[in-house]
Amino acid sequence: MSHQYGVRCHNAHLYKVQKNDKSFLVDLHMRTCECGEFQLDQIPCSHAATAIRSAGHDIYDYVDLYFKQVTLCLAYHDRVRSVSSQDEWTVSSSFKVCPPKSVHQAGRPKERRYRSAGEGSNTRSRRQLFMY
Ligand SMILES: [Zn+2]
Repeated sequence: MSHQYGVRCHNAHLYKVQKNDKSFLVDLHMRTCECGEFQLDQIPCSHAATAIRSAGHDIYDYVDLYFKQVTLCLAYHDRVRSVSSQDEWTVSSSFKVCPPKSVHQAGRPKERRYRSAGEGSNTRSRRQLFMY
């Protein structure tokens, strides 16, 4: 299903984008849209994309630097050191990591299993079963 957008240019950076019966004001200079997605996601929403295309600009120029490949490459430009074998780890003797303390209630633990439809319910008590 395609959506029809109407675009009206107010000035070089301000556009009013009409979609169905709603209209959204897009400011390309401030990188905002009345729907709020453009300024929140830092990626052009459909209204902003319509305005950007109408202005003859490249949509990717309006995508925030954080989402671009160059930023990803910069984030990992240093070598990522791999973890050595467990045999080579230096283990501290000043403290010991222990499992969490668990508290067991007295008696038989409750059954925590969902019965399948063929098994029937477990509503009858054991005493009722022996009465037949
Ligand atoms: Zn929008």
